[in-house]
Amino acid sequence: MERVVVVGAGLAGLRTVIALRDLGYAGELTMLGAEPYAPYDRPPLSKAILVGKSDGSSLPFDPAGLKVDFRAAVRATGLREGTLETDAGDLGYDGLILATGAEPVRLPGEGARYLRTRDDALALRAALVPDASVVIVGAGWIGAEVATAARGHGCRVTVVEQASTPVSHALPPEVARHLAPWYAEAGAELLLGERVAAVHPDAVDLADGRRLAADVVVVGVGVRPATGWLTGSGLDLAGGVAVGADLRASLPGVLAVGDVAARWSPRYDARIRGEHWDDALRGPLVAATNLAGGDATYDPVPYVWSEQFGRMVQYAGLSAAGARWVWRGDPSADARWSVFSLTLDNRIAALLAVDQPRDFVQGRRLADSGAVIDPVLLANPTVSVKMSVAGSAE
Ligand SMILES: Cc1cc2nc3c(=O)[nH]c(=O)nc-3n(C[C@H](O)[C@H](O)[C@H](O)COP(=O)(O)OP(=O)(O)OC[C@H]3O[C@@H](n4cnc5c(N)ncnc54)[C@H](O)[C@@H]3O)c2cc1C
Repeated sequence: MERVVVVGAGLAGLRTVIALRDLGYAGELTMLGAEPYAPYDRPPLSKAILVGKSDGSSLPFDPAGLKVDFRAAVRATGLREGTLETDAGDLGYDGLILATGAEPVRLPGEGARYLRTRDDALALRAALVPDASVVIVGAGWIGAEVATAARGHGCRVTVVEQASTPVSHALPPEVARHLAPWYAEAGAELLLGERVAAVHPDAVDLADGRRLAADVVVVGVGVRPATGWLTGSGLDLAGGVAVGADLRASLPGVLAVGDVAARWSPRYDARIRGEHWDDALRGPLVAATNLAGGDATYDPVPYVWSEQFGRMVQYAGLSAAGARWVWRGDPSADARWSVFSLTLDNRIAALLAVDQPRDFVQGRRLADSGAVIDPVLLANPTVSVKMSVAGSAE
C-alpha cells in the first residue's frame, strides 16, 4: 500500500493518521477536511466554548511530524473505484478511510441555529446575551448542554421536546423522567410532548398551531451520517457507511470510522452507529490496523457523557425494551445516583451514572466483560459495583 487518503479531519480522521504512522505505515498519506480548520474537538463546543470558558478546542496536530499532506477546506464530492473526487480535483488511493462524521438533522424552516462546528458555537455564543429569549428544540444531550450554557449567560430558556421525557432516544421513560426536573431547577422551562412543525430565526411553530417567539432558536434533534456525497459510489450505506466489526466497508480498501460508520456489532447482533466521541477516539486504531492487513475487531460497549445543569452524566451500553433497572441511590432524593439495566441472565446491558464516576467506571468494565451480576449486591450502595459480580462476595 502506497497511497492512503483519509476523508474528514475530525477526531476520527486525525486519530487514523496518527495510528497509521504509529503502526509503521510509511507511504503517502493525505487527510482532507471540509472545514477551514485543523482538527479540533467537538465536546468542548458546548462544554467550554458556548459557556465562555474558551474560544477554541484544537487537537494537538503536527502535519510535518506525521508526514501528512493535510488539505483544509477541501470537500470530497464522490467516489469511484480507486479514485476520490473532491472539489479540488481527483485523488487516487490504495487505501481510503472515511471519517466524515455526522451532520445535524434539520427541521423544516430556515434560519434556526444548529450546533456542530466551531463556527456554529462561536456564533451561538455571541447571541446568548443576558435576558435573550432562547427556544431550544430537542431535550437530548445537546439540547440540555445548550440550555445549561444559555442559562449561564442569563438567557430565558424554553426547551421543546416531542417525547414525554428528555433523552428519549437513549433512555426509557422510567429512567429519563428523573432528568426532567433539572430543567426547572436551572430556571429553564421544559415543554414535553410538543411536536415542532417549523423553525424560524425568531420563532418556533408547534404542530398544534401555537407559535413560540424567541430571540434565538436552536435545534438539537440528532444527527445523521455525512454520506450524501457517497450516493452512487456502490458502497453499502445502510444507516451510515456500513462496516463490519473490522470497520471494513463494502468496497475493497475502504474502511470507515467515527460518526459516519454504521458498524456491525457481534456483541449486540445488530448494526449500530455510536455518534459518540469514544468511537472516534478508539475505532481508528482498529481501522488503521486492518488497512495495514491486520485482523482487529472493534466491538465495545457504546459510551457517551454529557455535562448538563452542573452534573456529569455518563451512559454506556444499549438498554433493551422492557429491561429491568436496578437503582443505586434515589434520584428523587439524592444528588448522585446510578442505575443499571440488567439482561434476563443478569448481565449489565446499560448503565447511567449521575455524578457517580466510580460506579460508572466499574459498571462499564463489567458491562464490557459480560460478567454475571448479583442484583441484590448491585442495589446496595454500600457495596462497590465491582463487588456485585455474582459469587464475588462469597
Ligand atoms: C456540541 C457537541 C458536543 C458533543 N459532546 C459530546 C460528548 O459530551 N460526549 C460524546 O461522547 N460525544 C459528544 N459529541 C459527539 C462527538 O463530538 C462526535 O461523536 C465526534 O466528533 C465524532 O468524530 P468524527 O471525527 O467521526 O466526526 P466529526 O467530528 O463530525 O468530523 C468529521 C469531519 O469531516 C468533515 N467532512 C464532512 N463531510 C466531508 C466531505 N465530504 N469531505 C471532507 N470533509 C468532510 C466535517 O466537516 C468534519 O470536520 C458532541 C458533538 C457536538 C457537536
